[in-house]
Amino acid sequence: MEASTPPAKKKLIADWKTLNRIFIRPEDDDNRRALFKHMEQILFGLHDFLQKHVGITEEASLKELADRFTDTLIQPHPEKRLSEVISDLVHQIAPHAVNVASPYFIGHMTSAIPYFMVHLKTITAALNQNVNKAETSKVLSIIEKQVLAKIHRLIFKMPTAFYDEHVQNPATALGCFTEGGTLANITALWVARNSLLAPKGDFNGCEQDGVVAGLQAHGIERCVILVSRLGHFSLRKAAGLLGIGNRNVLSIDVDAGNRIKLSALKQCLRDIQATQGRTRVIAIVGIAGATETGSIDPLPQLAEICAEHGIYYHVDAAWGGPTLLSEKYGHLLEGIHLADSVTVDGHKQLYMPMGCGMVYFKNPHILERIAYHARYIARQGSVDLGIRTLSGSREANSLVLASALQIMGSRGYSLLIEHGIATAKSFAAQIKKRPLFQLVTEPRLNILTYRVCPPEIKAELESADTLQRRRLNAYLNDMNRGIQVLQREGGVSFVSRTTLYEKNSLEDPIVVLRSVIMNPLTTLKILNEILDEQEKIYRDNYL
Ligand SMILES: *Cc1c(COP(=O)(O)O)cnc(C)c1O
Repeated sequence: MEASTPPAKKKLIADWKTLNRIFIRPEDDDNRRALFKHMEQILFGLHDFLQKHVGITEEASLKELADRFTDTLIQPHPEKRLSEVISDLVHQIAPHAVNVASPYFIGHMTSAIPYFMVHLKTITAALNQNVNKAETSKVLSIIEKQVLAKIHRLIFKMPTAFYDEHVQNPATALGCFTEGGTLANITALWVARNSLLAPKGDFNGCEQDGVVAGLQAHGIERCVILVSRLGHFSLRKAAGLLGIGNRNVLSIDVDAGNRIKLSALKQCLRDIQATQGRTRVIAIVGIAGATETGSIDPLPQLAEICAEHGIYYHVDAAWGGPTLLSEKYGHLLEGIHLADSVTVDGHKQLYMPMGCGMVYFKNPHILERIAYHARYIARQGSVDLGIRTLSGSREANSLVLASALQIMGSRGYSLLIEHGIATAKSFAAQIKKRPLFQLVTEPRLNILTYRVCPPEIKAELESADTLQRRRLNAYLNDMNRGIQVLQREGGVSFVSRTTLYEKNSLEDPIVVLRSVIMNPLTTLKILNEILDEQEKIYRDNYL
């Protein structure tokens, strides 16, 4: 901090003169130059800087960091100039952030982004449009509708005439932007809930009269949402928020490929039918790219079941959705167009900066079920996008996506997707080759799970009975947990961990190491280094 403090420091004060200036331009020429320099550093340098910083965090632990940030008083007068603040952020704060851009960071769905994303984000910040309403966004609301139509077309492949009719139609909506997959899933289930608890007789619909009146009007005692046990926890949040209750998100067993087990789903539906309408299904959710394993549910079969029972069908493609851009792997999501709604995250495999989720609806009128109007905005018939979104004020993230699609083309994205899947497959082959490891889930997309499992334990597991298996797995679970923590704390590379269940039994948990291969700079050589490090941690601590 000392280095950036100018020698004869003027006392900083907050008054009208200085305040006026910050709304006009930087204070003087020196300051202007300093700001340009910092902007350059933010746009280009921060990336280089992060690149050089191998590892996830610097040595300072979270506890030490927390001790440094305990002052809770807002100072009456300015403490620093803007240039000093930026310099501090670049030199003092950024080094303690997580280097998600490192090719050794393969644990989560957050990764490096193309450098141009930062430029585009800067433009949206500078324009500061609010796409809640046309009066604060104008052309950006129009661009948002266009990009929504482009992704809708990628998913639902409706005829051109359909898109001509709806692309700029203020009375319809093909989907909406949200802050992420969580809000996208909530939006979809909000629509699904209102569809089931629809107006009937004196009942005006659940949005107006509430869930309790809705259940009474329809003679329902319990509403449920069905998803495989690998469903994202945002679905449970949605059920809590929507008054359904998160215990009513029923986890359906998965098959050996971690896809929803159709026989179990059908059995569940038979049990529900036996209640003679007292229990009703709000939605069946198919997963296209499960967060933990990357597996994809049998989407066409789920569509058939939903159609047969008249059940709302949502597909959570937060992770896998962009696979549709790949000619080679798009077919993995076959049947997705049969869904009533589809969640896609932009900040995952569209390599957008944080804060971009989307949800798409096959029926361009269905968002009317959650439409809201106000006296001062979102008037009936206006083009205000805020009429049919969960969020209120919102940044123009759609501009970033619209621009990124122009810069990348579907071909550019498809190269990234294909690289991820190909690298994950080679990584799986390496894991299988090494005696110390066991591949737990094959990469269907670019996510795989494995664990450290010494050969002698592997052999024991093969002939073990249930109790012996549990004991051996418990030992392996402790060990894998320990190895993951030690590797993370080593700070060179990062793989995450989760718990899967053998034979769908909660009594047989398996702790696995989980890797998500999405950084184009992550090579097989790097992945082998990560395995080498895990072997070393094992030898140093568990042998
Ligand atoms: C990431 C993810 C979500 C949640 O998305 P956020 O952007 O973190 O809110 C939902 N579903 C799936 C399958 C995901 O992978």
